[in-house]
Amino acid sequence: MSAPLRRAAHAAASSSARLHAARLFASAAPPPHDAFLRLPSHSSPPLSRATAAPVAPVNYSFCKPDYNGPDMSYDPPGRHHLFVPGPVNISESVQREMMRQSVNHRDPFFPQLTFGLLRDLKRLFKSEEGTPYIFPSTGTGAWESALTNTLSRGDKVIMPRYGLFSHLWIDQAQRLGLDVDIMDERWGDGADEARIQAALEADTQHEVKAVCVVHNETTTGVTSDVAKVRAALDAAGHPALLLVDGISSIGACEFKMDEWGVDVAITGSQKALSLPTGLSFCCVSEKAKEAAKASQLSKVFFSWSDMDKMNAEGNFPYTPSIPLLYGLRKQLDRMLAEGMDGVIARHAKHAEGTRRAVKAWGLELLCENPRWHSNSLTVVKTPEGIDSTDMVRSMWAKYNLSLGTGLDQVKGKVFRIGHLGDMNEVMLLGALAGTEMGLIDAGVQIEAGAGVGAALEFFQETSAVIPSRHIFEYPGDSPMRATVY
Ligand code: PLP
Repeated sequence: MSAPLRRAAHAAASSSARLHAARLFASAAPPPHDAFLRLPSHSSPPLSRATAAPVAPVNYSFCKPDYNGPDMSYDPPGRHHLFVPGPVNISESVQREMMRQSVNHRDPFFPQLTFGLLRDLKRLFKSEEGTPYIFPSTGTGAWESALTNTLSRGDKVIMPRYGLFSHLWIDQAQRLGLDVDIMDERWGDGADEARIQAALEADTQHEVKAVCVVHNETTTGVTSDVAKVRAALDAAGHPALLLVDGISSIGACEFKMDEWGVDVAITGSQKALSLPTGLSFCCVSEKAKEAAKASQLSKVFFSWSDMDKMNAEGNFPYTPSIPLLYGLRKQLDRMLAEGMDGVIARHAKHAEGTRRAVKAWGLELLCENPRWHSNSLTVVKTPEGIDSTDMVRSMWAKYNLSLGTGLDQVKGKVFRIGHLGDMNEVMLLGALAGTEMGLIDAGVQIEAGAGVGAALEFFQETSAVIPSRHIFEYPGDSPMRATVY
């Protein structure tokens, strides 16, 4: 058994869990596979990367022959509770749909699959006008596609920064040779529309070619107001393109591509679409397609024009990941059956229930302004003296619950509860119960059940009966008679 598991088991066995948990956090000895967690990776780059600071050499010591990897010798009972803001839970029906016999994408059935997916993806983006693209890549690839297909080396772009993902997109833009006007905001705030408008008004020569906004900053749980960013562009009378990273928002937060005048909307499969990682999507306006004709940045794998040629035949410029496309078909069917507005309303409800739990725990959100509250995740400040990374690890070790840790600037200071994708109230209550136990283990003074109770009350009052469930009678004068059928 690994050291953290041993310590957690010890804490669980003790009548004084808090004391043991305090010891767990105080322990200086890292778990044996800790080196793996500290690799300079995509998820934890130094913030100075954009300023070309030297990258720390990779520590491969964990690969030595005596490294055995994480201890997987014991498969704990029950479900793993996955509540990070991507990857997320995948429904059993989608998982089954992907487990089919391997087939040839040049067989006659395939174009029908492609055409149907491209048609229905537009409903996800709320776009009639846009052209959707499906890439066999993660969201980072769709970022690259948006920039390389619309812009040229040296082009000026405005990019607000308020978390790790907006930072990484800026880093990508700079490494592609774009001239980025970075607008730094507090981590916990969103895009400042007035600031964007002022910068565009000052750009009388229209040198700025695009404004790039991360809609839902997954580091901080902040959803910027894209409609207001569009209004800022319009008020400035500026023709810049509006490129929006909706990777952790589309399918969870309200998103209206056409109405908001978004030129490129981007998302990924492992977030609200509740699929495995490996597909990314862009939906592209006519204006962005026009800009693509003049764009000089190199693109090969992510070329929209290559994609246009093959999509017209119902195929792709490369071998598609057919199981992921089957999964996408199934998941789009499920979301369309629920209704896209219903999907968003469900996310809004889960987010509100979670915020009520946080309030009842006496904790604070990193996103202080309610106008930016996120449907996708809730980012909670940990009380002084508690390292959120340790706390999240101990919840994983003791309760088989996976929450998001704080990233980069807010590492150790916050934890993230992801509530996007395929989820219902009872699942979320399980995660909130695990979180509450973990908080109490860490020494936070909470009356057991306070947060779960607040969320529970809210869900109980607001939940409706599943449409397809049979009518059945509640006895006597039960108030349920009126609401359950
Ligand atoms: N943008 C946002 C808002 C994200 O949350 C993420 C990943 O979590 C990314 C971009 C990068 O996407 P990927 O890891 O799929 O490349």
